[in-house]
Amino acid sequence: MPLNVIVLGPPGAGKGTQAERLAATFGVPKISTGDILREAVHAGTDIGRQAAEIMSAGQLVGDELMIEIVRERLSRADVARGFVLDGFPRTVTQAVALDEMLDGRGEVTVLHITVPEDEIVRRLTTRRICEACGATADPGVAPVAPCARCGGALVQRRDDGEAVIRQRLQVFERETRPLVAHYRRRPRFFTVDGHTAPGEVASRIRALIGSGASAAVATRSGGA
Ligand code: AMP
Repeated sequence: MPLNVIVLGPPGAGKGTQAERLAATFGVPKISTGDILREAVHAGTDIGRQAAEIMSAGQLVGDELMIEIVRERLSRADVARGFVLDGFPRTVTQAVALDEMLDGRGEVTVLHITVPEDEIVRRLTTRRICEACGATADPGVAPVAPCARCGGALVQRRDDGEAVIRQRLQVFERETRPLVAHYRRRPRFFTVDGHTAPGEVASRIRALIGSGASAAVATRSGGA
């Protein structure tokens, strides 16, 4: 049975961190549409040129382009045993397209990570990524430290300024929050409290994935 996982949640919920851990644990690729777009911007490709301004403004790149990017990625051989999707889908149109793409590919687990808004803003304004390899630095690492993975310089993401963060949160509420309703009645939809240490969140997620449980709810309520 392949492990097909969708990680859903507001910016700063820890989707990327958890997707990466999960992918490493189960030996399946992590597919992050934000990373794919940032790489394209970095490389100066056509897609990168189309996406750069939209991303810096905290808006969403068009559904058609995003759906094609993911369709192509999911057609590669390395997803035969599954995948962890981080940052896609982000709109109902994308979710409907993904349902079609995944039809007949086994069950899908949806992890909805919640974190209160003031914590999101705190996390994002202090987040640093590596200028060279794009890795997100562990929280608490000094901003002047080199990247733990490649030694590159740590910088703030272009869309992590406070005004753009507020914009991204509004876009999340308007465009992405409706996906909770889209997925919530699926047998493997889980809400996970992301307002705790990454290791703790990761072990709860592993327990949910391994348990074959059909429903679970965060132990702490509230939050985005
Ligand atoms: P992320 O790294 O997931 O926070 O994504 C960074 C930015 O890339 C977002 O704010 C959007 O501008 C763009 N982006 C990433 N994934 C998508 C998607 N599925 N649909 C539209 N835009 C996206």
